[in-house]
Amino acid sequence: METVVSGIRPTGELHLGNYFGAVKNFIQMQETERCFFFIADYHSLTTHPTPENLHQNVKRVLINYLAAGLDPEKATLYIQSDVPEVTELYLLLNMNAYLGELMRVTSFKEKARKQPNNVNAGLLTYPVLMAADIIIHKAAKVPVGKDQEQHLEMTRTFANRFNRMYKVDYFPEPQAYNFGQELIKIPGLDGSGKMGKSEGEGNAIFLSDPPEVIRKKVMRAVTDTGPTQPNQPKSEPVQNLFTLLSVLSSPDTLAYFEEQYNKCTIRYGDLKKQLAEDIIQINAPMREKMLQLEKDEIYLRKVVTTGAEKARESAQKTVREVREIIGFKSF
Ligand code: AMP
Repeated sequence: METVVSGIRPTGELHLGNYFGAVKNFIQMQETERCFFFIADYHSLTTHPTPENLHQNVKRVLINYLAAGLDPEKATLYIQSDVPEVTELYLLLNMNAYLGELMRVTSFKEKARKQPNNVNAGLLTYPVLMAADIIIHKAAKVPVGKDQEQHLEMTRTFANRFNRMYKVDYFPEPQAYNFGQELIKIPGLDGSGKMGKSEGEGNAIFLSDPPEVIRKKVMRAVTDTGPTQPNQPKSEPVQNLFTLLSVLSSPDTLAYFEEQYNKCTIRYGDLKKQLAEDIIQINAPMREKMLQLEKDEIYLRKVVTTGAEKARESAQKTVREVREIIGFKSF
């Protein structure tokens, strides 16, 4: 059993891309590994949310992940700011994190370009906080997307640097978690690229969308004027709909519409109706659970307090040992 850590951005509702691209893997991992999943609310302060938004977002994300199948009995699910030990390790790691290397991080350069009026120190030291989040549990594996690979490399740098500096073999080198299969990319409904919440209205289907919203979004998905000759290659928007069918519908359904397409008898309206109903089927139990959880403050409180207790136990042990290694001694 390996220790796995993954951060969750508190950015509101989960969409089908998040679910099939990330959350389903978490659900699988929690069965076999020692998993820590945390909602990264300290990290989110770099963009200065209002207090109301911060809390609302954390709560939405918590409800979404629980409804999607994260099991607090199997994994340690906690809110980052409930584990203040993280900030102590972050401070200690900051002493050996250098301005030059932090300034070269791609995501920092991008953020600095996007928000030139808010290039705060938290943004610069984001990879140090991320390293603290990971190595505080001495994680071996981190499930990361492509955009996080450079951050994980920095985590290894900070962990190794600490070991070298104090001549210890204390922190393991965390590696990217390999799911053993190709990562699925879920396309959006607007005809290009992938599903994402910042891609514009109607591109993404959220797990919380009610059936009528799902039908409306799918029916409005971009298509083309239809094939004019047998076995014609598909345009990108149509290929996207077929990709969605391949993930979300039965193999028979996919085969049926493939055949219709290849024979030029396809009616995109029929395909969309079927796709919408299949999505509704997948979403229904999660949406129902979400509505239940929204009303169950007592359960939510229990989840986060139990998660914080378990996470703090692991974090306190690390910080105690790190303090000893560094040379903090009690009088
Ligand atoms: P985001 O909501 O962009 O912060 O995404 C969180 C995680 O969800 C990413 O790291 C990906 O693993 C996954 N994800 C987001 N969008 C998609 C998508 N369209 N297809 C597959 N995976 C996705």
